[in-house]
Amino acid sequence: MTVRQVLAEKGGDVVTIGPDKTLAEAAAMLAKRKIGAVVVTREGADVAGILSERDIIRALADKGQQSLTDHVSAHMTSEVVTCPPEADMDHLMRAMTRGKFRHVPVVEAGRLVGIVSIGDVVKRRLAEVEAEHEALREYIATA
Ligand code: AMP
Repeated sequence: MTVRQVLAEKGGDVVTIGPDKTLAEAAAMLAKRKIGAVVVTREGADVAGILSERDIIRALADKGQQSLTDHVSAHMTSEVVTCPPEADMDHLMRAMTRGKFRHVPVVEAGRLVGIVSIGDVVKRRLAEVEAEHEALREYIATA
């Protein structure tokens, strides 16, 4: 299954934030939208970074609550691993496991067109396992 197929199901909405917003604003956004990461964009366009709940936790552990007034750009990851819509979901799952991150922005022709999270990966794997299980059950029942 490709990332494009997953996005066709879940949609291409991506929550973004500007690099000059504060960590407090980012935390409020994560809480309100019930998500684990925001993509950092400049002028709503290209991907400048990604900020996840782990980055906020690390900032709080290192600097305490005064870090909440820091700019997002001070704590985001700038070297973002992205993928094209043609990427294979199995490949993405391996990249997430290897890189120890749970979010991959999807970029097409330089434009942000979606995001795949570990939750999307697990949901798809569960559906696959259930389909295999059902096929085996039918095979046994009719063999
Ligand atoms: P996560 O597991 O997605 O909450 O993120 C764990 C760490 O990896 C955080 O420091 C994130 O900023 C970083 N991170 C998340 N997604 C990516 C990505 N696609 N490419 C590079 N780093 C990422």
